[in-house]
Amino acid sequence: MKFDLNENQLLVQKTVRQVVQKEIAPIASETDKTGSFPQENLKKLAAADLFGINIPTQFGGIDADRFSFVLTIEEIARACASTALIFVAHSFVSQGILIAGTDKQKKKFLPLLAKGEKLGAFAVHEPNSGCIHTAIETRATLEGDYYLVNGSKFMVTSGGKADIYLVLVVTDKTKGADGISMFIIEKDAPGFESGNPYNKMGLNGASNSDLFFQDCRVPKQNLLGKEGEGLKILGAIVQSFIMFGASAISLGISESALEASIKYAKERVVLKIPIGSNQAIQFLIAEMAVKIDAARAFLYSAATNKNTEGLDALKVKLFVSEIAVDVTDKALQIHGGHGYCKDFPIERYYRDARGLTLHFNTTELLKANIGKTLVGLQLL
Ligand SMILES: Cc1cc2nc3c(=O)[nH]c(=O)nc-3n(C[C@H](O)[C@H](O)[C@H](O)COP(=O)(O)OP(=O)(O)OC[C@H]3O[C@@H](n4cnc5c(N)ncnc54)[C@H](O)[C@@H]3O)c2cc1C
Repeated sequence: MKFDLNENQLLVQKTVRQVVQKEIAPIASETDKTGSFPQENLKKLAAADLFGINIPTQFGGIDADRFSFVLTIEEIARACASTALIFVAHSFVSQGILIAGTDKQKKKFLPLLAKGEKLGAFAVHEPNSGCIHTAIETRATLEGDYYLVNGSKFMVTSGGKADIYLVLVVTDKTKGADGISMFIIEKDAPGFESGNPYNKMGLNGASNSDLFFQDCRVPKQNLLGKEGEGLKILGAIVQSFIMFGASAISLGISESALEASIKYAKERVVLKIPIGSNQAIQFLIAEMAVKIDAARAFLYSAATNKNTEGLDALKVKLFVSEIAVDVTDKALQIHGGHGYCKDFPIERYYRDARGLTLHFNTTELLKANIGKTLVGLQLL
């Protein structure tokens, strides 16, 4: 299924594809095996100005639209979902500062993020909060010109590798959800530390680590928006932008799994015929192709439609991430025992796709919040 792209979108897609095919695809398997942070990939994406994709030109970005952002991530994820995940986390920060930052914050941080001189990441979840944002415990108390931040964050993508973090913190416990705020915290802030990267099942290059704040001194001008606006800002970043990025990772993985499966079905010969001659394999391929087309159509139309609402973004992420799990499962089946071995990329696609249903808004949280919205209840 083909979609019309305008000149700018085509240019962005072509630029990313070139970088991805030349620089990122050849080392994707190695990145997964070693779990090393793909610093070189990030440098190449930055050199192609892609880190500034969502940032206005006045701050050094290329000011592309949301659809171009989706196309960029989809292309990166086709080769290396870990790099795509790091890219989405980075964009979370620039998008947050764009939505809620003061002029001073925009001038200070956006040019560095646009050029990739500083890497961004977000720290929302905590060991005890799970996926429920209102359950966070990390506290910030104002002392003169600084907030003192105390607490920890769980499994942050690019944790310890990134330079600038958007961190969700409680500033007034008595106010519940209205007492939660968002801060820009720099890596060199006194009292900031990161843990060792988790040994994960997939998305191995994304270096997920815990963050620790012990009387961490954060200048009061690093508060994003006003005190108590943390969840509002988080919702705006996630629902207007980041759910689309996360979905594009799942779409990119699914597309690569299908491509590899078609190739394998034609090349693998059993009983002197390619396995693709068997109807059982054709059915799997047909189901994968139809589901991917539906996922792409849903994601692209939501990303381009001006009337898309926050609820639509949640629906897209739920749909596309679950399809990626299904599609990569079928791809593994087509590859048989060979696909279960690390000589083929299929097992990596399968592991990476699985992570996207756990990352940030889990499948259950998405279902709960979509259902609650539809029956008129407050979101989790
Ligand atoms: C690859 C990856 C990257 C990540 N990157 C980041 C990052 O950059 N920044 C960050 O802040 N966090 C990040 N996380 C953490 C992630 O957001 C959390 O893992 C996620 O929110 C789930 O929290 P939990 O692991 O504590 O699970 P839990 O909250 O303990 O949930 C366990 C299970 O119970 C379900 N569940 C929990 N509460 C409810 C409920 N009320 N209703 C229905 N079901 C419920 C969950 O859906 C899940 O199935 C990342 C995680 C992964 C896997």
